[in-house]
Amino acid sequence: MKIVRTVGALRQEVAAVRASGARIGLVPTMGAFHDGHLSLMRRAREKCGFVVVSLFVNPTQFNERSDLERYPRDEQRDAAMAKSAGVDVLFAPPVEEVYPDGFATTVEVSGVSEPLEGAMRGPAHFRGVATVVAKLFNMAQPDEAFFGQKDAQQALLIRRMTRDLDFPVYVEVCPTVRETDGLAMSSRNALLDPSSRRRATALSRALFAIERTVAGGERDAERALAAGRVILRAEGIEPEYLAAVSTGTLAPVKTITGETLIPVAARVGNVRLIDNVIVRPEARA
Ligand code: AMP
Repeated sequence: MKIVRTVGALRQEVAAVRASGARIGLVPTMGAFHDGHLSLMRRAREKCGFVVVSLFVNPTQFNERSDLERYPRDEQRDAAMAKSAGVDVLFAPPVEEVYPDGFATTVEVSGVSEPLEGAMRGPAHFRGVATVVAKLFNMAQPDEAFFGQKDAQQALLIRRMTRDLDFPVYVEVCPTVRETDGLAMSSRNALLDPSSRRRATALSRALFAIERTVAGGERDAERALAAGRVILRAEGIEPEYLAAVSTGTLAPVKTITGETLIPVAARVGNVRLIDNVIVRPEARA
């Protein structure tokens, strides 16, 4: 596995591969790898002849300075994990390589970027995400790019941007990988103190309870969500949002008739966590 730090060096690597006809897969990340990241790398490895992983803690998508400053970073460990997942190139540029002096262009995806995370973190967050992913697509020129369902709204936004800007990239969204107690894996989990780590399982327990309620026949969104709110409240967690929304538009859903996304965001201790499930009511005969 090669580690490259400049756009020029990355372009050189992929140009040679492209000439050989191999498919190029890209996995954008901010590092501090866990099994969620590795699942994307393995999926890319399965589908593509050449796998590029980008490791870049993108400052423009952080809405809190303290979150950016304490974001876990360990490039050596990440490089070893990427290598063992069969990654060909780890692209780990310095900030100046991505945002040189005078950088002035941003990509804004309206609609799906506005509710939920967009409302809580402000419009700069998804502008930062869309801009950096557009740049990574142009830098690596992948045939396919791999994202996690854990960040459902981000995945939707990237699909929208890819279609709207005609990037010739197939976007694949991979399932959320969880700890054995249900907590969705996240680089930020490492920042949880032991008591918050225990309480944090309430997020997935709440989502699974909502899933069971819908499976049991409940179609009223508020009543289904109430099953989750009870679990969060029992741990003293007040969610920033817990909602039932359309998987395609993120518009709120009152009656659960088809595939519905249930996203949640909450601060546990001083760490902000997000998670989601998709509920699919069985069609009744
Ligand atoms: P991050 O490094 O947090 O920006 O995440 C990089 C990619 O990994 C994004 O596409 C995330 O959605 C994805 N990802 C993060 N956590 C998980 C997880 N638990 N399961 C699956 N994918 C994940």
